[in-house]
Amino acid sequence: MEISSGVRVLTLTETFTIARGSTDTEEVVWAEIAHGGHVGRGEGAPDDRYGESVEAAREFIERAGDALGDDPFALEAIEHRLRSRGGSVVGCCAVECALHDLVGKLVGQPTWRLLGLADRTPPTSYTIGIDSIEGTADRARRAAEAGYRRLKVKLGGAADLERLEAIRAVCDLPLRVDANEGWTVAEARDLLPALVGLNVELIEQPFPAAERDAFRELRAVASGIPLVVDEGCHTLRDVADVAGYADGVNLKLAKTGGIREAVRMIHASRALGLVVMLGCMIESSLGISAAGQFASLCDFVDLDGHLLISDDPCEGLTLEDGRIVLSQRPGLGVEPRA
Ligand code: MG
Repeated sequence: MEISSGVRVLTLTETFTIARGSTDTEEVVWAEIAHGGHVGRGEGAPDDRYGESVEAAREFIERAGDALGDDPFALEAIEHRLRSRGGSVVGCCAVECALHDLVGKLVGQPTWRLLGLADRTPPTSYTIGIDSIEGTADRARRAAEAGYRRLKVKLGGAADLERLEAIRAVCDLPLRVDANEGWTVAEARDLLPALVGLNVELIEQPFPAAERDAFRELRAVASGIPLVVDEGCHTLRDVADVAGYADGVNLKLAKTGGIREAVRMIHASRALGLVVMLGCMIESSLGISAAGQFASLCDFVDLDGHLLISDDPCEGLTLEDGRIVLSQRPGLGVEPRA
């Protein structure tokens, strides 16, 4: 197997702001693995919140060749060899997803089928970044008109409640909120009754990842809205801890390092009674399609990274009635645009 790496710069259609900062472009890293007349491709999206970088991811991919061996179907063994080296998780993700793409192409089947799963996925949320009250309402109105069926609202900035009320004034879509570690317990407790009244269906990472007692305190209020851990849950070994202070996990390939670890985490979450959300970074449809392959197993799907960019370098993934529609083509089902 021959492996190589590349970088794609993705341009956001609108400035994207969360509690930690703003961005207009994102860089993602690709792994390409050539074998048996096919090329498998996978993507990784480095996030500096997790100490990841494009450079470290590319270095991981460029060094991965001797861990691949000569059997691309030996996915568990290859993954074990890749992970035992340490280093960039998103580099590992790009390689692992490229192998799934390659294996699907070698046997002529979509990855979701090889995983024994369905191609139908729950409706995705569309993310409304932090903006002014008027700007938030405008984004929500446009998203509702575009046919999205869930909204995820980034909070942890100024005027959180006023922004949510402005959204409610223009649409009645179910809302998810994500404070990206930006609240204190007092702020969350003050907001909670209003969130219940606004039919918020989940609260994502209200507090810093290390502040587990804050989660326990808010959970004790028993609002009925699940508290979902994103920044505080990366891999399988984190899932049991989450069950001790929250109600669910938000899985992302950029944290799990690949498809197989994410699927393991879904089953562990089920055993522990946790709800499962599937999220993403700003990614092309190559990265989003990789997550989509197992989205049918999840309760809440938030796979909109490719919908927030103006220059998706791939095609093959579509959107219908607010759901991402997986391709029937082999592997991950997306290819670079000609
Ligand atoms: Mg989040």
